[in-house]
Order: sequence, then C-alpha cells, then structure tokens
Amino acid sequence: MKNLFYSFFELVYPDLCSGCNNGLLVNEKVLCAFCLVNLPKADIGLLTSNDLEKRFYGKVSFGHAFVYLRFQKKSIVQNILFDIKYGGNKGAGRYLGEKFGMEILKKSPSFKPDLIAPIPLHLKRFKSRGYNQSFVIGEGLGKILGVTCKEVVERVVSNTTQTKINRILRWKNVDGIFQVRDDSEVSGKHILLIDDVVTTGSTMEACLVALLDAGASKVSIASLAIAT
Ligand SMILES: [Zn+2]
Repeated sequence: MKNLFYSFFELVYPDLCSGCNNGLLVNEKVLCAFCLVNLPKADIGLLTSNDLEKRFYGKVSFGHAFVYLRFQKKSIVQNILFDIKYGGNKGAGRYLGEKFGMEILKKSPSFKPDLIAPIPLHLKRFKSRGYNQSFVIGEGLGKILGVTCKEVVERVVSNTTQTKINRILRWKNVDGIFQVRDDSEVSGKHILLIDDVVTTGSTMEACLVALLDAGASKVSIASLAIAT
C-alpha cells in the first residue's frame, strides 16, 4: 500500500529538491540549481590536509582519501543525506555518488580501484529500510569510475549462536565489528571503501582493518560527507 501511495503522490506532485524541498524544474534532477551551486564542498583535492585523512593519519595505512561535502546540522547536506537514508531516495544517492566520482576524477584522473565496497548496514536496519545508502552512493561512484560496487563486508551479528565465529573474528579483527564475506573477493585487490557520512572515523577504520586482514593489497577511503 505504501508504494502505491508514493507512486500516486509522485504523479500528483512534482519532484522536490533533496536539499531545500522546493519543486524541481523540468531540467533539474535531485537538486535545484540553487542547492547545486551552494553545495558545501570539502577540500577534496588537497589530500595531505584533507580532514578525512587527518582522522586516520598514523592509525592505519590506506591509499587515497576522498570526501565530497561538509556535513553540518540543518544544512542542505543534512537534508540530502536524510533523504537518501530515510526518505527512500535511492536516485539522490546515485546522483550524488556520480557527482562525487566526477570530482575524484578531476583531482586524480588515474584513480582506479579494483572494487568499491560500501560500509555495511546492521542487518536489522537493512531489513527495515530495504537498502544500504552507502551502496547506492557507491553505485553512482562506480558508474563514473567504471568500477563494480559490491557488498563484500558484513557486520558481525553478536548472539549466542555466533560465539564460535566471533572468537575467530576477534583474532582476525581487533574490533570484531566487520567481516569480509569471502576473502578471495578482496585478496590482492585495491578496494575503495565508501560511506555516506564520517564523524569520528572509527567505523570506517574498523572496516578498513577487516579488508586488510582479508588480504586486500590496498584500501582507499571515500565518504560522501564529513561532519565538521
Ligand atoms: Zn534546493
């Protein structure tokens, strides 16, 4: 019933801008011209002074670090991320992923990972939402970079039946939050890890460690937005 309602809704009302909720013009897609021009871009090009890189520097080794937008409360970026995450707007996720991909290629034209891996959602959240927002962003990014986006990492479910698996994982990954589903999918490869928004960087770091433990030769990181 819910989907039918939304389909009907879309027929009656025009598409709304993900950033400001105003109606979009026919030639506008996802964002209105105003929001598109006013997107608060992060310092994507200067990798040594990049905020995302600073959060990781010295903790773990990684390839490139990319971030597209600055996340602030009550901002265009917060509205967009909310729309992608909770509003079911997968199209906005792919669109922003494509924009992100174009920015990456502008700064690093030769950047070409072997695989894009999204930070996985909790299974419970995946079931209620039906999709992983980082995956749809990764799909858009992958379209531009010409790289496949695949859910190769999963969250470890902590319950009694998993005790044995958890013990092995604790050995493999100190944090034990993530595991690679099949090591052969990442072994010897350059993986680009993608997230929607980075705050402390600890989730991304734990996922990165899991990928390196599974044999990835290099892990680069990308986040659509960074909390400042
Ligand atoms: Zn707008």
